[in-house]
Amino acid sequence: MSTAVFDSFFPFSRPSICDNAIAEVVACLKSGWITTGPRVQQFSEDLQTYTEAPYVRPLSSATAGLHLALLGLHLEPGDEVITTPMTFVASLNTIVLAGAKPVLVDVEPNTYNLDVNKLEAAITEKTRAIMPIHFAGLPVDLDAIYALAKQRRLRVIEDAAHAIGAHYKGKIIGSCGDTQVFSFHPNKNMTTGEGGAVTTRDLELAKRISLLRFHGIDREAWNRFGKDGKQQYDVIAPGFKYNMMDIQAALGIHQLRALNDFIERRTTLAKRYLEKMADSPYWTVPKMPDYDFKHAWHLFAPLINPEQANMSRDDFMHKMKENNVGTGLHYQAAHLYPYYQEHFGYREGDFPVAEMIGERIVSLPLFPDMTVEQQDKVLQVIDNVMKGN
Ligand SMILES: *Cc1c(COP(=O)(O)O)cnc(C)c1O
Repeated sequence: MSTAVFDSFFPFSRPSICDNAIAEVVACLKSGWITTGPRVQQFSEDLQTYTEAPYVRPLSSATAGLHLALLGLHLEPGDEVITTPMTFVASLNTIVLAGAKPVLVDVEPNTYNLDVNKLEAAITEKTRAIMPIHFAGLPVDLDAIYALAKQRRLRVIEDAAHAIGAHYKGKIIGSCGDTQVFSFHPNKNMTTGEGGAVTTRDLELAKRISLLRFHGIDREAWNRFGKDGKQQYDVIAPGFKYNMMDIQAALGIHQLRALNDFIERRTTLAKRYLEKMADSPYWTVPKMPDYDFKHAWHLFAPLINPEQANMSRDDFMHKMKENNVGTGLHYQAAHLYPYYQEHFGYREGDFPVAEMIGERIVSLPLFPDMTVEQQDKVLQVIDNVMKGN
């Protein structure tokens, strides 16, 4: 019998919430204004400064952001939006909810990002937009995607849920290109509890999102209830309830200030994983592209080599849990979910690289407060699990 390396459960992700953030939330709660108001306004300005994006719209989630960004393109039935099967299912779901058809392009085996060599073949007369994912915080080859988008007159919505703080060829994600959608879910690189934001260079799209995120009302509630505000308003469209609250922004303001430190910590840990696992027969670790980038390291997600390890990814995850270590599954190939098979006719074999990754990928513990000692213990547990101890 081996002795337990972890006495209690060690999670795969945990947010780091500093005392300043907690004090800000308390101040917000005591201020008498807890929904959309001055703190969301400040968070929006801070995000604009950080991402260098022309227009920023904070929202209740990235899923809301993808939905509204797509609705802002005024898609019509039969229109197609291209994304990949190696993503969280919200990327596909929101395309369907916006009335279009998700057309998938397989990913690249080293980075799990959209394979730009396969992109052109997927573009048809009906294609309206491309929605690439910056997987794990590694920027996809934006120059290649935007070159094709320009040539074929397509919009680009970057699913940047993993990628706040990442850079592509020296530019921070959000500072260039068409439209980006960020997530502030607790597992992401920074959090507002739940939350998200759209950044865009398209003023019309930004205005449309402002309208649709709050019932289609042409003025924000906090203006109405202020001293100079009016109670009257107009409804221009049947909108949603996708606004961010000040309670969330209170967290976000301080998370954003800490973000570069968080990414630095994640990078140190990810590089240690890479260093210690690169030569292991049990693992295939992600490989980096040739172009210049800064990785945000949202996830460290290698592929298990099931034959050498003599176990499946699911067995591995189960054994890690038995040893008190949490792991994550990001992601199963999305085209194989029953809805997508039934409604869009996708089948096993359609996207072999995504399917191979989806069978073997596992996210190992990675978060800013994780210490090197804890990481060594995780590596020890992996070693024990592989050796059948
Ligand atoms: C987390 C995530 C989303 C959705 O983010 P929410 O803020 O939880 O709605 C969308 N796409 C990807 C790739 C994600 O990882």
